[in-house]
Amino acid sequence: MTKAPTPPTPLAPPALPLRRVTVAAVRAVTPRMVRVTLGDPSLAGAPLDGPDRQVKLYFPRPGQSEPVLPAPDPDGDVMRWYAAYGAIPEHERPWMRSYTLRSHDPAAATVDVDFLLHGGDEGDGPATRWARGARVGDVLGMFGPSDHFAAPVDPGAGDWALLVADACALPALATLVAALPPGHRALAYVHVADAAEEQPLPTAGRLTVRWLHGDDSSLEEAVGAAVFPAGRPYAWLAGEAATVRALRRHLVEERGLDRRAVDFAGYWRRRLTQDDAPTPEDLAEARERLAMRDSAEAG
Ligand SMILES: Cc1cc2nc3c(=O)[nH]c(=O)nc-3n(C[C@H](O)[C@H](O)[C@H](O)COP(=O)(O)OP(=O)(O)OC[C@H]3O[C@@H](n4cnc5c(N)ncnc54)[C@H](O)[C@@H]3O)c2cc1C
Repeated sequence: MTKAPTPPTPLAPPALPLRRVTVAAVRAVTPRMVRVTLGDPSLAGAPLDGPDRQVKLYFPRPGQSEPVLPAPDPDGDVMRWYAAYGAIPEHERPWMRSYTLRSHDPAAATVDVDFLLHGGDEGDGPATRWARGARVGDVLGMFGPSDHFAAPVDPGAGDWALLVADACALPALATLVAALPPGHRALAYVHVADAAEEQPLPTAGRLTVRWLHGDDSSLEEAVGAAVFPAGRPYAWLAGEAATVRALRRHLVEERGLDRRAVDFAGYWRRRLTQDDAPTPEDLAEARERLAMRDSAEAG
């Protein structure tokens, strides 16, 4: 008698990557960039850093000593958790903002996050306000890093890499630069307020950085005038949403780059906060990103 095949053992559902993190250290990296070290015992173990590892941070509302967040269900269902988060009355619901893991120290069970003190058009948003006053012992919520909202990127994917960032995307750009394969050619264009905001960008790659300062220079102009090395580039663009859209259009329509070789993300929107609803352009971009991911998964 033939034995019925043993059904595969179902994988345990991944635990929801939600943590209560406590500030362990705060230090100025530049006059407008603050590095906050966040700790939690669950950060010991497997490395979480790498190129462009994104997290959602949750900031307490006035009167709260720490953000009040729903407990995850034991099955780790993300959508149910987000629904419970969305159901918290607005005046109590922690502000949610996107940030990048600048580094992870598994031995110390900490991660570093760099906050740009941007003082936007309408003044500081809640994340920047929090970062300006961050103290050891303060508590935030942290979701991620997770493939639920950000697929891993590979800066060594092309013959060379074009990396473009504004000041708030500099922490993410630094993680891509750090992950370049040895000797891999890369051109980086970074827009910051002034020379005091430039940072060292250690890499094993063959990197050329063009720093742009203040209102007299723009990423569009600089990239538009750039002479590119030969070969097929991998491009990564992050910063203000309209600027990123214009850069992407330039690369695909005028420079002929394969749109699948261009990773792009609007990190913030002029005169809008991260709580404001998506614009039609944001929605079109999100649809396109999903379509690109689906076609990449389909091979
Ligand atoms: C995937 C991802 C990763 C990110 N990683 C980082 C990171 O590591 N470090 C970091 O500092 N930021 C990062 N950002 C950007 C950050 O999430 C936004 O700047 C966010 O809006 C800051 O929240 P806030 O509460 O300070 O301002 P909000 O309440 O969102 O906005 C308040 C006002 O400030 C303006 N504003 C917002 N951001 C900026 C800005 N960067 N420059 C000028 N004006 C601005 C808005 O237009 C608005 O008028 C990331 C964004 C994304 C999407």
